[in-house]
This record gives sequence, C-alpha cells and structure tokens, in this order.
Amino acid sequence: MPELPEVETVRSALAPVVTGQQVMAVYVGRKDLRWPLPEALDKQLLGCRFAAPTRRGKYVLMPNDNGQVLLIHLGMSGSIRIHEAKPELAKHDHMMLTVEADDGGHRYIVLNDPRRFGWVDLFAAEDMATHKLLKDMGPEPLGNAFSATHIQTVFANRKSPVKNALLDQRLIAGIGNIYACEALFKSGISPRRRAGSITAGRADKLAHAIVTVLRAAIAEGGTSLRDHVQPGGEIGYFVQKLSVYGRDGLPCVICETPIRIIVQSGRSSFYCPSCQR
Ligand SMILES: [Zn+2]
Repeated sequence: MPELPEVETVRSALAPVVTGQQVMAVYVGRKDLRWPLPEALDKQLLGCRFAAPTRRGKYVLMPNDNGQVLLIHLGMSGSIRIHEAKPELAKHDHMMLTVEADDGGHRYIVLNDPRRFGWVDLFAAEDMATHKLLKDMGPEPLGNAFSATHIQTVFANRKSPVKNALLDQRLIAGIGNIYACEALFKSGISPRRRAGSITAGRADKLAHAIVTVLRAAIAEGGTSLRDHVQPGGEIGYFVQKLSVYGRDGLPCVICETPIRIIVQSGRSSFYCPSCQR
C-alpha cells in the first residue's frame, strides 16, 4: 500500500508534467472507485490548467485554475503511470488525463487500480479545510508541526499499542504499516508497547526515527524515478531498504535475533523482540 514516501514520489513525478499545463482530454472509465466519483469529472477537468501538485498524508492534491483541487488516493493497489505516447488502456486503467507538454506533444497520466480501494475527488480549493478526508488529519511528519512533544501529547493516555497509534492518520499523517514497523525498530520501541506509556525520551527517539525513515524512503523513490528505464512503469513502487518489515524469521540486522511477526488490528507487525522494548 502506498504510504507517504510512495505518494511523495508520485507527486514529484507529476510536478514537472502537469504544472502550468492544460488538460486536453479526460477519460474516466467508471462511475466509482472506492466511492462514487464526482459528477461529470471529465467535463469539469477538461481545459483546466494545473498548478504545482502538493501532498497531504497519502493524498496527491492537484490544484487547477478553476479554483478546484483534484485529489488522488491510491488506496491499496493504485498506481500512476506517465506516458509520452498515447497508451492502449489496460484493464483497471480507470482514468487518463491528457495534458499538453512543453515539447509540443502531450503527456498521458493513467490511474490504474485493480482492487479499487483508491479514490479520486474534485472539490473547491476553499473547502480544503473541511474536506471529509482531510479535515481530521494529523500533522505532516516532515512538517514543522511534528515533534516529540506532538507524539507525547497525542499518545498520552492511549491504551492502544503504539503501532496502532502510528497508523492513526488523525494523530500523524501519512504513516502506514511498512514505515510504522521500520520507525519502531529504529527507535527500539516494541510495537506492543502501550502508546500512553511513551516517555519523553522514547518520543524523542520515535520522532527522529519517523523523520529519518521517511526521508530515506523518499530519497530512494527519487532514485527510482531517475533510474526509470520503462516510461510506462508504475511510479511510486520502488525497492526500499527495510530492516524489519517482511523479514520475519530472518536475523535482526543489529543483534541477529530472528525477527518476529505478530498481527495487530489485522495488520502484520515485524519487530526484533530483543532490540525493541
Ligand atoms: Zn535485534
């Protein structure tokens, strides 16, 4: 599932392609993904010009000169491809935007989502603060509002495991299963520890680990973009350097204790029972 670094990679791939460019054609193949798509989405987008895309949590936000914002959520399995030549649309390609390009040609932006847990919305920019997916979202972990103090404040008195608290988008935006596991390993905190028991010292390590892990993954995503051989490749799926996620039974990179896997709220948690307390 795309998390903050993957979505950030998609945003940075879209930025040079869409910024300042006009939408020349829109294909919308379905009336719904996870939820119904906006009415006449194709007609609403046709002819608009995009400003620079931004990101909030796991959402790509593409403002346009109609005073609207196109929101793209990749869900569990969604991906974006950017083509220089018009592609044959494949199964699960639900949307394609054709934008003009500086070289006189066009670029084709395709949204593919086999499991359809993703979503696309178009809303007035002034409604950003009240949008149902955005209004309750916690601070960006790479932004100024995020700190050890923030972690301590929002985790205080929580009986749920710290792993579950990290996945709660209302507390911190953008962290999913992979980077929650990695950040907990890096900070030496057990995923089973009660969120409310995180002391100032642990909160400090955790805040630092979250930022480090996310920044490293974003850098990795940037590398994957530069190394892109196939122009039709899915953007935002790259091989991360992971210490615990997906490594159950393999030796811990620090102490060689086998990495353990447990299920918390239906999600797999990977951790070192020796390094993480
Ligand atoms: Zn270990």
